[in-house]
Amino acid sequence: MKVFVIVDMEGISGICVRGQVLNGDARYAAGRKYLTWDVNACVEGCFAGGVESVVVQDAHGGGHHFLWEELDPRAEYIQGATGKERMPDIGSFDGLILLGYHAMAGTPEAILEHTMSSANWQNFWLNGRKTGEIGIDAAIAGERGVPAIMASGDDKACREAEEFIPGIVTACVKTGLSVQGGRLLSAETAHKLITACATEAVQKAEQIAPVKIEPPVTARLEVVSRGRLPVRGEKPYVRIIDGRTYEVTADSVQQALDRL
Ligand SMILES: [Zn+2]
Repeated sequence: MKVFVIVDMEGISGICVRGQVLNGDARYAAGRKYLTWDVNACVEGCFAGGVESVVVQDAHGGGHHFLWEELDPRAEYIQGATGKERMPDIGSFDGLILLGYHAMAGTPEAILEHTMSSANWQNFWLNGRKTGEIGIDAAIAGERGVPAIMASGDDKACREAEEFIPGIVTACVKTGLSVQGGRLLSAETAHKLITACATEAVQKAEQIAPVKIEPPVTARLEVVSRGRLPVRGEKPYVRIIDGRTYEVTADSVQQALDRL
């Protein structure tokens, strides 16, 4: 079995303020360390569950946050820009783990909630259903036949994952109290939980169905500020809904995202 782990930063254990995920902030160095520890805990759990290989993608911002010299030597790591595909070669894997994920934009009492860009994206829908990054990435893997088998993050992210992906294993490493605050597990407890959940997830991967979004895929985006909509009539697959909202239609979730 081959597992792909995609890693965001806002849902990492020990992280609850924006400075910890922002390169240049004094708290960022600690955030990177916590991120690397969660990755190693997850890789440990995958191998304990009997997988043959693990590839881990650093997917927060520009993708340069892992402490490379401290990473588990058994896995391989994708860093930096990935080109056309959000998760390179995802179709060749047997399961996807969403590590360190966060709830969708607008979720109350969710740590560092947003969808793709807190500066630009207010709300996002896939085929009429409000969707965050958990659903988007589960759907991109799902259209290649790959199930999302585990997610980690705060309680709101875990609930969102369970609603979108029946049967997914979730590691709730913190409880959100506000956008920038929560009740956190200790490092040791969080890492043990992530390891145990990864082992459970790889062992029950075959029982979890890939998320299927039926084509044609319609992605609707409401933006935060005025003046950010495409020009009306410029592209045939774009439909303007109102002054801050537009839709694109595509053959797949990946293509719809590319067209936004
Ligand atoms: Zn992020």
